[in-house]
Amino acid sequence: MSDIEEHRKKIEEITLEMIKLLKTRTDVAKQIGDAKASLGMTVTDEEREDALRTQVTKLCKEIDLDQSTALKFLNFLFNESVKVQSDNKQTHLSVFLKAKELEEQGKEIIHLEVGEPDFQPPKEVKTALAEVYDKGYGKYGPVKGITELRTALAHHTNQLENDDYDEENIMVCPGARFAVYLAITTLLNPGDEVIVIEPAWPAYKECALNAGIKVRTIKTTLETRWEPSIDQINNAINGNTKMIILNYPNNPTGKILPKKIQDNIIEIAREYDLYVLSDEIYSEYANDDWKSVLLYGYEKSIITKSFSKSHAMTGFRIGYAIAEPSIIEKMSKLQALSLTNVSEPIQYVALEALNADTSENTKIIKSRLDALKESTKDIGLEFVEPDGSMYLFARTKHKNFDATKFSEKLLEHGVAIAPGEGFGDYKEFFRITAINEPRLMEGMTILDTVLKETV
Ligand code: PMP
Repeated sequence: MSDIEEHRKKIEEITLEMIKLLKTRTDVAKQIGDAKASLGMTVTDEEREDALRTQVTKLCKEIDLDQSTALKFLNFLFNESVKVQSDNKQTHLSVFLKAKELEEQGKEIIHLEVGEPDFQPPKEVKTALAEVYDKGYGKYGPVKGITELRTALAHHTNQLENDDYDEENIMVCPGARFAVYLAITTLLNPGDEVIVIEPAWPAYKECALNAGIKVRTIKTTLETRWEPSIDQINNAINGNTKMIILNYPNNPTGKILPKKIQDNIIEIAREYDLYVLSDEIYSEYANDDWKSVLLYGYEKSIITKSFSKSHAMTGFRIGYAIAEPSIIEKMSKLQALSLTNVSEPIQYVALEALNADTSENTKIIKSRLDALKESTKDIGLEFVEPDGSMYLFARTKHKNFDATKFSEKLLEHGVAIAPGEGFGDYKEFFRITAINEPRLMEGMTILDTVLKETV
């Protein structure tokens, strides 16, 4: 056998051996997952991961292997473990799907789990829908969006932020969800790390996991008013960290960070050259303390926004990203590959929707949130008063309360809520959406009754 043949044989053997080891590792990870589930433990244990990372780094020195390759491989293994251990988590989406099934069987459900305004889009949308056929929109179009809409969105951004954006800074996407997916998937590489501050909308973690990117979670608590400490953030950063994700006003807590903390986070991002993905989908539902990340003028920031919440257009699937043109360019490659372009008729409708005065929506959501706060206080739940968004994240005063079981029981009584475990390590919490008041109050009364039966 020639030398090269011999080496090829050897590499095949090693690879097959590695695959067998991966199988053994995955089986053990599953067993650990079952044990964690029965003990009510979370899937990710960052301390244990750190300890193993330290051992791997040490080993690399001993055997003279490139650390960065080894740590990327380690992140791949961590992600595989998270995947096999994360099967049964209940999210707002799984509750919503169960609620829909019950509705199909003829049951009436009050939806306090959904993340969408229950009012109609502005009337400009109706007019635009009637016009769009004759306007001739409806062919393949530019991947980043039609110029009219990109220009209008840049203008809209400048009005809000008093800055100097133009169409090159904008990419139209089918919803902020897709913009988030594009940003995470195209700006980061497998093995890179992203910081997510929890509680968080689950898609950030899922997008990263899907793209082979390691998530570093920062757990915030009700006791610290859902504020991350600067130490927590600094401790989560290492050589592989490439992005931090912010979402304020937050889903699910409604939190807005104190300005000082947000300033510090952006400073840290600059220092370590991290991307800042700021999901500002709830910016229209924010109190006065809110400051857009756009205002920092940080060139590695990506802001995601949407017509879903501000214009009650969830089903239209239209949102956008604001970033430096070089970032937009990278994101647009995957959009071209996967979508060609966002539906042109819907882009036209969004363009017209921008002319609508949505200040009434802002007032409606605020007054509902106020009503929800009062009702939640009356029931005696614990929560931090939301500064914005459309939700309230609460827990009971009872230790070890299982909000997932509670949400299942409550659904049997016709009320759907979002269990906290969908947003991170928050099994005792649940999220309630501020829907229209009569229905909200009806739902809260049932919640109160079922709670009293439960605890
Ligand atoms: N970000 C957050 C924080 C959300 O809560 C949601 C929707 N629930 C989205 C993004 C997705 O919005 P879109 O409908 O624009 O995809």
